[in-house]
This record gives sequence, structure tokens and C-alpha cells, in this order.
Amino acid sequence: MAAPGPSVEAALRVARDFEVSSGQLQRGVDEFLREMSEGLSKTGATLSQIPTFVTSVPNGTEKGLYLAVDLGGTNFRVCSIELRGDSTFNLTQSKVAIPRDLMVAKSSKELFKFLAKQIESFLEIHHNDHFEATVRRRRLTGTTDQYRREEIFDLGFTFSFPVHQTSINRGTLIRWTKGFDIPDAIGQDVCLMLQDAINELHLPVRVAALVNDTVGTLMARSYTSPGKTETLIGAIFGTGTNGAYVEDLGKVTKLKAMGSTGFDNSTQKMVINAEWGSFDNHLSVLPNTIYDQQLDAESNNPGIQMFEKRVSGMFLGEILRRAVLALTKDPEAKLLPQIASDSPLYQVWGIDTSFLSAIEADTSPDLTETKAALLEHLKASNASTDDAQAVRAIGHAIAKRAARLSAVALSAVILDTKRLDTDETVDVGVDGSLVEFYPKFIEYIREAMREIQDIGEKERKKIYLESECKLKYTLQITPQKLPNT
Ligand code: ADP
Repeated sequence: MAAPGPSVEAALRVARDFEVSSGQLQRGVDEFLREMSEGLSKTGATLSQIPTFVTSVPNGTEKGLYLAVDLGGTNFRVCSIELRGDSTFNLTQSKVAIPRDLMVAKSSKELFKFLAKQIESFLEIHHNDHFEATVRRRRLTGTTDQYRREEIFDLGFTFSFPVHQTSINRGTLIRWTKGFDIPDAIGQDVCLMLQDAINELHLPVRVAALVNDTVGTLMARSYTSPGKTETLIGAIFGTGTNGAYVEDLGKVTKLKAMGSTGFDNSTQKMVINAEWGSFDNHLSVLPNTIYDQQLDAESNNPGIQMFEKRVSGMFLGEILRRAVLALTKDPEAKLLPQIASDSPLYQVWGIDTSFLSAIEADTSPDLTETKAALLEHLKASNASTDDAQAVRAIGHAIAKRAARLSAVALSAVILDTKRLDTDETVDVGVDGSLVEFYPKFIEYIREAMREIQDIGEKERKKIYLESECKLKYTLQITPQKLPNT
């Protein structure tokens, strides 16, 4: 085989900057544990550690029919889930794009009316029996009687915007993000706004829980995991990264100061939304290459979400773009000499993280697929095998670093809960495009976990780390309300 050319050698040097040693992993875990504990004791800490008021997770024996809706960014999803009580379920789902004018509507009533209308059509189409028996009959006869409890659907509301949550189904909107801007909604309770709109249509639906997507992943995994196991962590590695986990209520010492008392504390547990994208914003342990520094400086929130900026799908493509761009400008490296001047390589956010998955998956000896991807994504014609190998090496290093840092968060949460000392299995559900599509992302997480000294070999064998993709919109339900029939 020919010796690697200058572009490959230069790329391997860059790739080394993305290596995370075992020692760095361990220091990361120690700092994560410190920040977790700080976040549980006070508001305004680096890790927000938000109490969700969900005080138990399902174990797969639950039964019943539930509704769930998801207002994320561009789409509104409505679904119903029939839990069969044996870890299996039947899911019916609908999805509609949110009209742009409603995202910036004059009044939040317009948006919530639209959402309630979607729930109404969903019930009409997919649960017509129930709709006929309850809603239409009432409308025809003009009766305004209350629905009986057994006629009412409990609905889980996944709302992926910052809220100040005060109970399982109460939370006021702090601010809109992702292109939404309806000023009168700020400071209002999003569950009440949805409930009011539902009530105007006289639908038999009760907004029973307000959750974010990590809690949804935790619930979904916990219900579907084999052997009636209760899951400890639900984590997302998609556009962003975050995790929710089951914490001992006694450790959530800030709850008292928050004045939150109206919840069922019989389990002595509470699911905590860690908001770990902001781990180590002060950069005391996270790696910080020149490309990370550039990306952060030019982002719209410098100094914030520093963990997320090294781990999640939104950023990995951009880190790669910056590293590759630097090597194309380096006269010694001579990378991609034939690149077009209008290549996305020259545009901020010009490389999507799916490009990293595509080139990593290439197993052809002369990297044909990587060359095709370089042409398609970067308008790089005539890329040589060295060019392909160089870009691939850097992409690999960036994604592997992301997986190893993900292991820091997961290991710290596992260690914090001390479940390895007491439980037979410790179950972790992970979701998002990175775990779903990046080859071996989960494998790299597992590999890094093996290097964390505080997790002994015997204990490590208890950890089940599984992908729970495509389930995240399903089980956003109030677990303590599930009938165990
Ligand atoms: P979300 O987190 O927004 O619910 P996803 O889990 O689908 O949605 O994550 C979307 C993110 O994943 C985007 O940042 C995108 O760049 C990235 N992504 C999309 N496809 C892939 C892929 N094939 N491999 C790796 N990352 C991907």
C-alpha cells in the first residue's frame, strides 16, 4: 500500500486533537457528579436539574389507552397509545406542519385552537367509536353534561420550549424559541391554554402531564424494556443532547425552596431533567480545540451549551467543516485542491452531521462512497483516495469524541444514583439521529464506559444501554396515573 500523502498525515494530526483520554473521561465524570449535586441543591446552577414532578416510571405491566401530543419545532404530532400490559403497545400517530403564521400569531389562542382542532380530527379519524359515543352524541342532543371519568382520555403534552414547571401538569412559558413568537403566551400556563382550547371544543380530554422529550424517552424505554425492568435514564443525542433520570427525592433539596409541595411523594423518587447540554460551560474539563473555539465564538450563544456543542447533531458537521476548511487552506496539507469556490465548505453550517454518518459507513477499499459524498455535499470533484481518507479520519475523530463525552454524562448519572450497588440491572434508553444513524455510536459509548475506573467490571455488566429510537413521541403519560389492571 502507498504511504499516506500529506493530506492524510495532516488529517491524522488534526484527528489526534479530538482524542479524549481515559484520564479526561474520569475527570469529566467527577466534574459532572459535582455539577449534578449542585444543580439539585439550588436553582441557577450549570446543570439545571429540573424537577419534572413525575414520581415513578412504568415497568411494562400498565394497561390502557392514552393520548400524547408533541409540539417541538416544525411539526405537531398527535398520537394514541394502547398499552397492552406486556411491554408491547399499539401506536397510532398523525403529524401536521404548524402553519408559519400561527408561530407568530397575534394571540396564543389562535395557536392553541389549532392544536385542539388537530386533537379533535385525530379522535374523529382514529377513535371514531369513542367520538360517536361521547362527543357527537352530546353535540347532537345539545347536552352539556360533564363527561364521566372513564370517558376521558389522559393526554401527555410534550412541549419542547423552556417552561417553569410547578407540577405534573402546570408550567408557564419562559420564552419562545425555534422561530415561534407569540408575546401574550409568555408567563402563561401552557397546559391551561391547551386545556381551555380543548374545552371549547367539548372534547373528553384532560391534559394530565407536561413533559420534555427526554422524559418521554425514559417512559417509553421503561415500558418496553424486557423483564419488567424500570429504566433509570432516558437520553437524547439528536439536534441537541439531554437526559432525564430517576433521582431519590431526598436529594432534590431545592424543591423546598421552590415551594413545590403538591405532588405524590409516596415513591420517594422524582424524574429529573438534567439539561446536561450546559455541562461544564466554564470549560474546566471539556476538550477545546481551535475548531470548538471558533464555532462557539460565532454561535448565537457563546459560552453556553458547551457540552452540547461538542456532542450533538446540530454541531458535529460544523466542527468537521471548520477542520476540513483549515486543511484546504494549509499549503502543506493540500487537501481537496479541486474544491469549487461555491462549495458548502465555505458556508457556516454547510455540512450536516448526516455527512459524517455517510462517510463513516463507507467500507469500500478505495472509499468510493466517501468520494461520492464529497462531490454531493461539498461539490468536491475528483477527490482522491487520500482526500477521502483524510476527511473520513477527521469526521471519525469528531464523532468518536462526541460518543466518549456522551459516556461521561451517562456514567456520572449512573454513579450518582448508586443503582449499580443495589440493582440487578441498570437500564438506559437512548434516542436521536446520532445513535440511530451514526455507525457504532453506542459501541463507542460502551467502550468509553469501560475506561471509567469508578465503574467496576462486575458492575458494568449490569448496564443495559439500548437505542429506543422512534418511540420518543409515544409514552408521555403520567405514570402514577396508570391503572395497573
Ligand atoms: P430532534 O433531536 O430534532 O428531535 P433528530 O434526532 O432526528 O431530531 O436529530 C436531528 C439532528 O441529527 C440534526 O442535527 C441532523 O443534523 C442530525 N442528523 C440527521 N441525520 C443524521 C444521520 N444520518 N447521522 C447523524 N446525524 C444525523
